[in-house]
Amino acid sequence: MPLYESQNIKIYNSLSGEKELFQPISSGHVGMYVCGPTVYSNVHLGNVRTFMSFDMIYRYFRHLGFKVRYVRNITDAGHLENDADEGEDKISKKARLEQLEPMEVVQRYTVDFHKVLDTLNFLPPSIEPTATGHLIEQIEIIKMIIDNGFAYVVNGSVYFDVHKYNETHDYGVLSKRKLEDLINNSRELQGQGDKKNPQDFALWKKADSKHIMKWPSPWGEGFPGWHIECTAMSTKYLGENFDIHGGGIDLKFPHHESEIAQNVAARGIAPVNYWIHTNMLHLNGQRMAKSTGNTVNPDELLSGKNKFFTKAYAPSVIRFFNAQSSYRSILDLTDDGLLASEKGFNRLMEAINILDSLNSGNSSTFDVSEWRQKCYDAMNDDFNSPILIAHLFEATKLVNQIKDNKASLNSDDLELLKKTMNDFTFDVLGLVNVAKEDSSADKLAGAVEILIELRNQARQNKDFALSDKIRDDLAEVGIQLKDSREGTTFTTK
Ligand code: AMP
Ligand code: ZN
Repeated sequence: MPLYESQNIKIYNSLSGEKELFQPISSGHVGMYVCGPTVYSNVHLGNVRTFMSFDMIYRYFRHLGFKVRYVRNITDAGHLENDADEGEDKISKKARLEQLEPMEVVQRYTVDFHKVLDTLNFLPPSIEPTATGHLIEQIEIIKMIIDNGFAYVVNGSVYFDVHKYNETHDYGVLSKRKLEDLINNSRELQGQGDKKNPQDFALWKKADSKHIMKWPSPWGEGFPGWHIECTAMSTKYLGENFDIHGGGIDLKFPHHESEIAQNVAARGIAPVNYWIHTNMLHLNGQRMAKSTGNTVNPDELLSGKNKFFTKAYAPSVIRFFNAQSSYRSILDLTDDGLLASEKGFNRLMEAINILDSLNSGNSSTFDVSEWRQKCYDAMNDDFNSPILIAHLFEATKLVNQIKDNKASLNSDDLELLKKTMNDFTFDVLGLVNVAKEDSSADKLAGAVEILIELRNQARQNKDFALSDKIRDDLAEVGIQLKDSREGTTFTTK
């Protein structure tokens, strides 16, 4: 029986503002879409926090035995400078400033994004679609919205008619904003351009002669609006109604609000059953944001080369730090916080490494099954990783007591404790056991020493064919032997 059948997950749904029992559309399957990065600059740790929270959620669903289709897109066009309908395309602008092809910009920062996530031990999503790879799908949905009377064409652009939509539907269902308030607070009269109303948003924009990223459409040469991209990519791979849509809380309005409106206008269906929004990472008490320059990039934290922190931190410490607060709370990145996480992480790893060498006793002084269920309960409660970590620390204490003969577990319980600790620490939280990595380096060194010894014997026996073979074959797998008067040493590439 898959684990999910015995666990009830509750998710805080931003749509209802309540924790709701998670009931997937298709039993045993989860469809999840997360808005990916706009690839015009290196990702900062704020972006990473959001994606890391979803990586943990993805890992937990998989751990429970769900078949998850996790779609995280790459925004490679259509995201304009002010996150609305005016200004330059973020990617075109970078290309212009650096005298590159826009696709060179896209390639450079997509590669950086993947490298960062790889270093931080992320699982790759099931599908990573690009906006420019789905223009036909976007154009099709725009046509449907026009046909249903919720969009209008002006001068080669297409706009979503928010006022018309709001007569029969609720533009504000997710963000809880009222159209009247949006109208009263609107300061954008100058930027209105061709729009009937400033609240309308672009589905397709005509490209002026300077705009380099443009494609043909039924309305002339142009480019898609940012919101329609996610509607096209999410519904193409997950269906017109799917389980989970996520992103940073800053995307709730207008991006996600507009995604709902677009799908309802095109197909008469709300696209998403559970909306998950992650809270922001702060630095020095202020939101980490590219626009204000208040950022630290992952490589700067990993190398220690930055002006904010006293030392370098390991990838798993960054993951542990993130998991020590709920994805729904603001998290302030500080040296003290990271130092404390480093200590906590090391304590957990020590316990896990001791665990392997513990002996079982005749009876148990601790209820491992009950403790294990508490770990699941924590994650079932809207992925409450800080509570999970508190339970893992409780087990850490127990491990040390067993080591000191102050507690004992029978062999079944000891096995269950080991399995549960490993499952949650490595599979769910995605931490990497540094000590284990070191010990595999030790093992490699030990194995090479044996080969060096055999090579020395071959030389003594004047079997130079064998001694050369050992040296050459090692070189082929990237291990160089170096002979000197003191003996033979080796280096790895
Ligand atoms: P962008 O590349 O600007 O579209 O952002 C990619 C993702 O990072 C979005 O889901 C944002 O909500 C998220 N994000 C941006 N800044 C932060 C931050 N300071 N903390 C957490 N998430 C963030
Ligand atoms: Zn999106």
